Amino acid sequence: MNFPRTARYDIVMTRANGLFAKEKITGFPIEPFEIIKNNKWGLVTYSELAEEYGVTVDEIKAAFQSEDGYTIYDGTNHTIAYNDTVSVHGRIRFTLMHEIGHIYMNHLIDFDETILRRSNLTETKYKVLENEANSFARNTLAPVMVVKDLKINSVGDLVTHFDISTSAAKTRLKALTLDYKVLLSQYIRFQRHNFKSFIYTFLHSKKCLQCSYYFVNAEAKYCPVCSSDKLYKSKEKHDMRYDGYELDEFGRAYECPRCGNEELNYDGDHCKICSLIIINKCTNQEMWNGEIQWECGTMLDGNARYCIKCGYESTFYQQNLLDKWEDEKKEKEELLPF
Ligand SMILES: [Zn+2]
Ligand SMILES: [Zn+2]
Ligand SMILES: [Zn+2]
Ligand SMILES: [Zn+2]
Repeated sequence: MNFPRTARYDIVMTRANGLFAKEKITGFPIEPFEIIKNNKWGLVTYSELAEEYGVTVDEIKAAFQSEDGYTIYDGTNHTIAYNDTVSVHGRIRFTLMHEIGHIYMNHLIDFDETILRRSNLTETKYKVLENEANSFARNTLAPVMVVKDLKINSVGDLVTHFDISTSAAKTRLKALTLDYKVLLSQYIRFQRHNFKSFIYTFLHSKKCLQCSYYFVNAEAKYCPVCSSDKLYKSKEKHDMRYDGYELDEFGRAYECPRCGNEELNYDGDHCKICSLIIINKCTNQEMWNGEIQWECGTMLDGNARYCIKCGYESTFYQQNLLDKWEDEKKEKEELLPF
């Protein structure tokens, strides 16, 4: 194969998406150690090598001409060696994805002049392969489309959400424009589709300051459990659950919360047997001459006491099917072991 004159960033993007598809990666941070294990590539640390050969880690670095990592191909399998004495764990993650990049880009198979040793390649050729591996690393650890869709634009947020080092985060930001230019519409479509649920959850997850309830909803202005409007973005999940009823695709309880009757005996919104309203929705409405002039009508989750749009009570709560949130919280906290 002819040696590329410049880095093939478009191919890198295809291979990065190939990795997401093959490893079924749908969220972040990704797990380089898992990927290596799944592919049965060899993995060895610089410390292990140093011990095996009775030399220092510095001597291993010198032998590989690499501070961080190195990949060997023996004709059948790839083995990654990485410097485990590096204290920044995000840097190791980057190194591993960089080495996986060399493997995914077929560098060791396509270019026999390589073996990725700086001295065996001209500086220009070495740079081409390094640029490809670096692009692969940043576009798998924190892909450009995902970063843009999450509206992340600070080093700190990149570090937190993608588990990368500060320096990798800086490079990620700097290379956004470069990477975006390479992104063809089909890559964007793939990534948007593949990470859809992750992006949605990230953008719309909320935690209530008053009752500690965590939920994901794009439209909520009020907490469905306690009606507080003090909602903030949170990564923590489910540290406080509130019981409710399971609902079917039409928002009806699978069985009547009062008499235990099942769906078959439902007549619209009501249970045929006990006439309970079996749909949990907002009760906010305006009446005029005994007729409903306007109603909020927002359909709610099975544990919602209040409307997420207007904060009014829900049908389930009005029918005494759900406990007061304060009571449930107290009861659950008493059960906690600490
Ligand atoms: Zn490299
Ligand atoms: Zn709340
Ligand atoms: Zn009933
Ligand atoms: Zn409402």
